[in-house]
Amino acid sequence: MTSDEQKKNPCHTVLSRWVEVLRCPQCRGRIEMDGPASILRCADCAGQYRITDGIPRLVMPQNEEPFARSCARYDALRLNEGWASEMPGFYQHLPFRDLSGRHPREWRLRAQSFRVVQCWLERTFGQRRVRVLDAGAGSSWMSRCLAERYEVLGVDVNAGPHGLAALPPEERRFLAMQGTLERLPLADGCLDVVIANASFHYTREPQRRFAEAHRVLKPGSWLIVMDSPTYPTQAAVDRAHERTRVYYANMGMSELAEYYTGFTASLFSDMPSFRFQRLRRDLSWGELMKKWIRETLGRSVGARFPIWIGITDGTEGKNG
Ligand SMILES: [Zn+2]
Repeated sequence: MTSDEQKKNPCHTVLSRWVEVLRCPQCRGRIEMDGPASILRCADCAGQYRITDGIPRLVMPQNEEPFARSCARYDALRLNEGWASEMPGFYQHLPFRDLSGRHPREWRLRAQSFRVVQCWLERTFGQRRVRVLDAGAGSSWMSRCLAERYEVLGVDVNAGPHGLAALPPEERRFLAMQGTLERLPLADGCLDVVIANASFHYTREPQRRFAEAHRVLKPGSWLIVMDSPTYPTQAAVDRAHERTRVYYANMGMSELAEYYTGFTASLFSDMPSFRFQRLRRDLSWGELMKKWIRETLGRSVGARFPIWIGITDGTEGKNG
């Protein structure tokens, strides 16, 4: 490939490091690169997948349009809520600065969670450049931060301007790829770490996401679930679901509430495929005090946002 072609297709280098583990979303066949072209092909079923904005689109072709429509609606909601922004540089500064000033406190908490995970990764892997999947990468701020030390793949269904295309291709040192978390376009046992950052609870069937994470992880490797609300009881989950339903209905997007699930701690402790430990997010004393006061005053039982770190058993077959 000439340097001109490289400039035209800046994701090519990082794509070439991942292509051996990419799989066809239709038949799980191997994916082949066709030189610098903007098409990927399945070696088995001859399915073709576009690369646009440097983002391989490894989803069922018939789903591309419906995904684009629902992501555009979701982006409009996030812009309205202040979680997305048209402000130049907004995504480049997350999570450490919220240039829009809409949610600085929440972003501070997310940055704290991220630092806890970053320290854990450093303690666990040292200098090894392990393969990390950012599952549900969104605008991929975490992929951007982690790519300084690790081989990072950010997967999300949203390939739009507030999803994977939030960062311009030349600023990505990781592979951003469109795909679904229910059927990851990846080979069995190819990853060292999967991180689900505020993503595994946006689905009707979280179990399918846990099963897919287990399938793509090597034996004895790690799933980290962070920034997903965890409630003490199923009754508290049901109340949270009802509040969410009312909220989305008021925003004119009631269909979104269908895709929201709160977790209970027992979901993690009872899961046969992973052994989870719980890390507390390093909240400041002020934050802990406010939380305690809210709960003591009898406000709704608040969700906790622990960081769950689960190790795969290391013995199960990987052909599922
Ligand atoms: Zn195929």
